[in-house]
Amino acid sequence: KQATYAELRDVEPFTRDGTRVMVMINAGLRDDVSALQLTGADGIGLFRTEFQFLVSSTLPQRERQMRLYRDVLDAADGKKVIFRTVDIGGDKAVPYLDNNTAERDENPAMGWRALRLSLEREGLLKAQARALLEAAAGRQLSVMFPMVSEPWEFDAAKAIFEEQADFLRTRRRHMPESIEYGCMLEVPSLAEVLDLLLPKVSFISVGTNDLTQFLFAADRANPKLAERYDWLSPAILRFMDRIAKNMVGSKVRLAVCGEMGGRRLEALALMGLGFTRFSITPAAVGPIKELVRKVYLPDLSAQMQRWLLNPPGDMRAELTQWAADNAI
Ligand code: PEP
Ligand code: MG
Repeated sequence: KQATYAELRDVEPFTRDGTRVMVMINAGLRDDVSALQLTGADGIGLFRTEFQFLVSSTLPQRERQMRLYRDVLDAADGKKVIFRTVDIGGDKAVPYLDNNTAERDENPAMGWRALRLSLEREGLLKAQARALLEAAAGRQLSVMFPMVSEPWEFDAAKAIFEEQADFLRTRRRHMPESIEYGCMLEVPSLAEVLDLLLPKVSFISVGTNDLTQFLFAADRANPKLAERYDWLSPAILRFMDRIAKNMVGSKVRLAVCGEMGGRRLEALALMGLGFTRFSITPAAVGPIKELVRKVYLPDLSAQMQRWLLNPPGDMRAELTQWAADNAI
């Protein structure tokens, strides 16, 4: 099996009906980037910038951030990298922010974290914006904001980046060749106002880890709940289907970057709902590429729509059987 994945490294994944599926990786460390070459992935669909912040006892200086982002872009060697601004706070407490002392969040996942924190600590986001803009000089910069719950939060975060870009421009500094902005869809409220968000963004990436914890009101870190709800449950599949349908005809790129997309049956279900961009753990790239090549999308989509209307009691078993019947 290993050999086939290695052989697939330089093969672009097309479905049997000719749809090119983008298979990217999630990363967070400088060394993760080498997985791009090893797996032949299409790029980094999610670079979690918070690792540098989490391992540091003081707020990482702008220059240090810039060096990391520049190294990542160098190592990606022209492949696309989507940098997600910091998702710290909540349970990812850091000593240099006061969220781990007096006003500790009672529900950290739903608390003062990610963009909520970044918009309040403007200095932090400004420094990160400048570091990213400088690191991407002469190249494309893709920026993604986490935990956007309402469209104005996206506007506010983008404005901070534009302000930094203007500052660099007036100083005639070397700018990125182009800058694009997008956001994570991981808070259910955002899906309800997708039409208001779409004109603003270049891309959306569904974070199924947080999205499912919020949909089911089930803490993703609680082992007692880990097995209770299934990613293949009708609630999730219908939710994902609605997002995909609401984006038909839009120029905005739609991806999935949660763990769901790296699992065989889940990825199959998502392809059946119209998702063709995945950002997944590097180890899943080979298996997912292999899966893509066996899929005939028109049949899969028709079957998924039947299941959405009449969900089978055991979706996992049904999909497994259907895959076997269709030589997948
Ligand atoms: C997610 O929430 O699905 C996601 C990809 O982000 P993280 O796991 O970093 O919260
Ligand atoms: Mg998340």
